[in-house]
Amino acid sequence: MTTTHGLRPTPWPRRVAAGGVTLLLAAAAAGCSGRGAAEGPHPAQPQARVLAAGPPAPRPVTTTAAPRPPAFAPVVTDRIPTPSVTLPLSAVVPGTTNMQPAAADAFARAFAAARAAGLDPQIRSAWRSAAFQQVLFDRAVARYGSVQAASNWVLPPSRSAHVKGYAVDVHPQAVAAWLEVHGAAFGICRTYANEWWHFEYLATSTCPPRLPTAAG
Ligand SMILES: [Zn+2]
Repeated sequence: MTTTHGLRPTPWPRRVAAGGVTLLLAAAAAGCSGRGAAEGPHPAQPQARVLAAGPPAPRPVTTTAAPRPPAFAPVVTDRIPTPSVTLPLSAVVPGTTNMQPAAADAFARAFAAARAAGLDPQIRSAWRSAAFQQVLFDRAVARYGSVQAASNWVLPPSRSAHVKGYAVDVHPQAVAAWLEVHGAAFGICRTYANEWWHFEYLATSTCPPRLPTAAG
């Protein structure tokens, strides 16, 4: 890929001595971050800061500043994580096994907060292998009579957030109700109107509107 920077190289600042240019070029050629070279030419900065701190600085205006949203680790919603644990098709998957790390961490922290609030959060189903999700989907098609009807409750492996490793079915309902209120603080949202138990880690403090069903 060609970058704009590559097409039009930025000229070096004139105040940089020729020796400095050579040093920076050598650092760049070596794949170095250039941090040592960049720190070298500015020894006077800390002193300048001390001098500036003499008179009282004006107070920053805070009344118009928007509150900072919580920082969340990203979750990759179209990625199926590489399983770290291999399990037989019908085996029970313990806890957050094989989930995307950011999602597993968010649910662990949310459940700890729920326990602190006196609840007993439990995971009914979290990560599922694509093979197991296919079994569940085939059963749903047989039960509901069509792929479309089945997709209201069970998605095929290619679309399932359980297979992609960022969904958890929680229990009991009191925990789900708690998560509906407090989940967004952890980046966790209820996503479907017809499934009170199904929550997804979406790495957002503002949950999107719920879909009527998993089929959309
Ligand atoms: Zn679910």
